[in-house]
Amino acid sequence: MPITINEVLIDQDGVLSSFVSAYLKLVGSPLQESDIHGWHMENYTNQTEEEMWQCIREAGESFWTDMEAYPWAYDLLTNFPTFYVCTAASTKSPAAWTGKIRWLNTFCSLWGIPTPKVIMTADKHLLAAPDRLLIDDKPSSVKQFIKAGGNAILFPRPWNTSGDSSDPMATLWKKTAPDLMLFCDPR
Ligand SMILES: [Mg+2]
Repeated sequence: MPITINEVLIDQDGVLSSFVSAYLKLVGSPLQESDIHGWHMENYTNQTEEEMWQCIREAGESFWTDMEAYPWAYDLLTNFPTFYVCTAASTKSPAAWTGKIRWLNTFCSLWGIPTPKVIMTADKHLLAAPDRLLIDDKPSSVKQFIKAGGNAILFPRPWNTSGDSSDPMATLWKKTAPDLMLFCDPR
């Protein structure tokens, strides 16, 4: 019996916007996103986590506003009638709080779609419910959301282990279609 999903929560960094690429570029690393095979990308640039956040802080709001949008971001933001962007703006970079909203405003305006409602929290599991679906690239967020009673899909990216990260949307639809009855048919 498929589960009915009434609300979808879509992560921003790593799902809509290329946070990892922006960081690699910021520190002058020659690596690409596809070279990052673990959650802690700073391990690939010989920085500590604090050094990474220091660099991001020093870059200011433009670090967040200038990120590239993934080619599938538009599809994700136009597929679900009821959805929220649910993103963990870190207190380690206060500029993330405004920068992420500006990023959404910029791209949504470019695409001619309304800026979605945004929920900013690192504790996404607090929003878990049996009729909610979280789409997120962070394994621990997905795990906690499911544990708290929600439905969640690990969005395939090179730094997690959720299937083909070269075509994440195909994997996403493959995973949603058999088990979840979305209120609209996936493309
Ligand atoms: Mg993410």
